Amino acid sequence: MSVSAMDIYRLLPKTNCAKCGEASCMAFATKLSEKEMDLELCTQLTPDEFDTLEDLLAPAVREVIIGKGDKTVTIGGDEVLYRYELSYYNPTAVVIDVSDDLPDNEFEERVKTIENAEFERTGEILTLDAIAVRNKSGDAAKFAAAAEKVKDAKYPLVLCSFDPAAMKSALEIVGDQNPLIYGATENNIEEMAELALQYECPLTLFVPGDLEKMKQLSHTLRAKGLKDIVLDPGTFTGEGIGDTLDNFVMIRRLAVEERDDDFRFPILGIPALLRLNSDEDDVTKGIKEATIAATLMNKYADMIILNGSEIWELIPVLTLRQGLYTDPRKPQAVDPGLYEFGEVDENSPVLLTTNFSLTYYTVEGDLKSGKANCYVLVLETEGRAVDVSVAGGQFNGKAVADLIKDTGIEDKVKTRKLIIPGLGASVSGEIEDDTGWEVAVGPRDSSAVPDYLTKME
Ligand code: SF4
Repeated sequence: MSVSAMDIYRLLPKTNCAKCGEASCMAFATKLSEKEMDLELCTQLTPDEFDTLEDLLAPAVREVIIGKGDKTVTIGGDEVLYRYELSYYNPTAVVIDVSDDLPDNEFEERVKTIENAEFERTGEILTLDAIAVRNKSGDAAKFAAAAEKVKDAKYPLVLCSFDPAAMKSALEIVGDQNPLIYGATENNIEEMAELALQYECPLTLFVPGDLEKMKQLSHTLRAKGLKDIVLDPGTFTGEGIGDTLDNFVMIRRLAVEERDDDFRFPILGIPALLRLNSDEDDVTKGIKEATIAATLMNKYADMIILNGSEIWELIPVLTLRQGLYTDPRKPQAVDPGLYEFGEVDENSPVLLTTNFSLTYYTVEGDLKSGKANCYVLVLETEGRAVDVSVAGGQFNGKAVADLIKDTGIEDKVKTRKLIIPGLGASVSGEIEDDTGWEVAVGPRDSSAVPDYLTKME
């Protein structure tokens, strides 16, 4: 379970000196429990008190940072099994592999595809997070050459080889970039642990389908002083997918509920194995790979390695990730105010909507695709949709009157007619009374707004 504000407060100095920027130690404890402030901000702690609190605050799943400088990705950090209990932290890192046996031009093309893959959803640019270089050739020199080719890539690296000699050759090139080493197995654990310690890099432990053995080997790595470990319990992409999920869930339960130190690490899944082990056509493989990725992401995968890089395969995966890692305690909102679409002038129509992100970006998309020319007033509804904010009272005449005044829209247009969403019809009279504007009830669905505006002209 996550640590309560009271548990933290008991260990703070309780002087309410406010040097942390909060008015009291209790306020600071509350922010710490919600991961909104850093412990370092309390400068009144002795080193021992700091260590005790730092230990208490360590998340159930330890955070592992891959990469350095401006190209890093952090995985892990979760405290709970269910998102509604708190929130999930550090979105699942989505990684694409590239094989070291590809001809130079294909290798370069694939890296570019990975770097350029992105799309926008609800105002956020969704991208990939890392590049996994796979030692498919089995040749140490080729693996080192591949590392050389990606050393200036935009994303952090995962180096994939079970051969310690090949891993060492790649680490000699990019070991200073803090790549994730993949990985240690029962057979190579001594050599891989030594490389991870020597280069101070995070290390993946691969133990397929045997959590007892995984615990034992994780303990071995910890005893050697390794702190940044990633666990791969195996991704069985055929009929074994149920066992894969069971293992993921069991590892996370042991971390969160039992605080078992051998399992308090991020989990890695490899949907890419589906493609490597299948002779189906590319589209079928892509659909299955994305489905497995989504399944694992739903059940605690902190990092996934994909082979497919087609945008149609990545969109559902990245969209699901965005949804899962949205904080359920904080409604997603855009800034309230006045927005312009297309060419506007003093005769342009004025629309009203709320500042719930999904509502706003749906309206924005519909207005842009319909080439509408209009002003849109965005009302502060604390991130609530139209129907919810009407019911909750945030969508009301007084608030709209204030918005009209604050934005200065009356200085920009001659009209005094406001088009409100169809779902806000029940408060149209109230808005008219409080604003003095005529209110027209527009469509319930914003996709109909461009046509509605055309008919008004
Ligand atoms: S700086 Fe530390 S002691 Fe001072 S109010 Fe903040 S938490 Fe309390």
